[in-house]
Amino acid sequence: MINKDKKPELLIPAGGLDTLKVAIDYGADAVYMGGQRFGLRAKADNFTIEEMREACRYVHSTGKKIYLTVNIFAHNDDIDGIKEYFRELHKAGLDRGDTKIDALLISDSGIFMLAKEMLPDIDIHISTQANNTNYLIYKFWYEHGATRVVAARELSLNEIKTIRDHIPEDMEIEAFMHGAMCISYSGRCLLSSYFTGRDANKGACTHPCRWKYSVVEEKRPGEYLPVEEDERGTYIFNSKDLCMIEYIPDMIAAGIDSFKVEGRMKTALYVAAVTRTYRKAIDDYYISEELYRSNMSYYKDEISACTYRQFTTGFYFHKPDEDTQIYDSNTYVNNYIYIGCVENVVEHDGKKLIVIHQKNKFVVGDRLSIMDFDRDNIDVVVEDIFDEKMTPMESAPHPKQLLYISLDHAEGIKQGMIIRAKRP
Ligand code: SF4
Repeated sequence: MINKDKKPELLIPAGGLDTLKVAIDYGADAVYMGGQRFGLRAKADNFTIEEMREACRYVHSTGKKIYLTVNIFAHNDDIDGIKEYFRELHKAGLDRGDTKIDALLISDSGIFMLAKEMLPDIDIHISTQANNTNYLIYKFWYEHGATRVVAARELSLNEIKTIRDHIPEDMEIEAFMHGAMCISYSGRCLLSSYFTGRDANKGACTHPCRWKYSVVEEKRPGEYLPVEEDERGTYIFNSKDLCMIEYIPDMIAAGIDSFKVEGRMKTALYVAAVTRTYRKAIDDYYISEELYRSNMSYYKDEISACTYRQFTTGFYFHKPDEDTQIYDSNTYVNNYIYIGCVENVVEHDGKKLIVIHQKNKFVVGDRLSIMDFDRDNIDVVVEDIFDEKMTPMESAPHPKQLLYISLDHAEGIKQGMIIRAKRP
């Protein structure tokens, strides 16, 4: 029996202001962002203090929530900087009013203590990096004032259910629903530090788990002997991505309050596709299980249309086995090209023109697909392309160029919609 009063939160990553707006427009209940310091994912755009203020205002104006990651494991040398950072957040009003961050996402108990002292009005969620594997950990954090704990990725749904049964009702459980997996135990990976000096636990992972490895015999430099577990190949560390679109009822039954999507470095196209699909699937399930099951092929097609590796259910039903890794390639499957986001729709010479900053090349005559916020796609053909001086162009080869596009029809196209093109 599902609790119709308590729909789980759909929590989407925001690598920058653009993707944050896309996530909200396509149906996220909450977003999480990183500041320019002390949040994992150093390679994401991340938010300046002023951008955080803008992000909070925007998210709150839609009635949604916004969280900030401060989830590094700090060394002694980091402490003064973290204090200064928390002072900056307070000074910028990020702990009050319409610019208040709804929660900080923290791994380190020392940073937790500092946040409690310096930003007492902001809720604290305990990051998955803190390895939250049993109900005593949840109780510990509850008693210390955390309102939510993110489940360790290594937990099964049965274990999460047991945690739910042992913790207070108002303590929230957040768990990953979709996104990349590490082959290491969460937050305990030294591959990137070892190979490149860039620390995964400080947000700078260079993903050596996806590299191609060979064996070299000392006296035969340059002769690469393949590392093969079997005939499938050599990418022995390369995990499939988590995807739980088929198991929303199981996630709800386990007592999970917030469904989290991984990936603060993903494109707006990925964010739009994943958010819209999970939004639709959750809402359908809350209308009826029959509706949810009947739309499964739509969800799977849409999820597969965005950038992904191959899918796994991670640890949720059993421990990962040899089928959880990808052996023959380290590349993504990628069915669509990101063309841009509708920034405006303007009238010119009696025609509606779509304004975008181009992300990938397209030409006059191309078929494009515009992602409606709800579910459908608006299929269009490019009739004309103009540059910012309204000079006609046959193609749009320059990334980030401001363009005006005339389409064969423009009904229903709104600001914020993502434009994509099917790969040939
Ligand atoms: S190298 Fe791979 S397994 Fe290690 S932290 Fe980075 S993504 Fe995770």
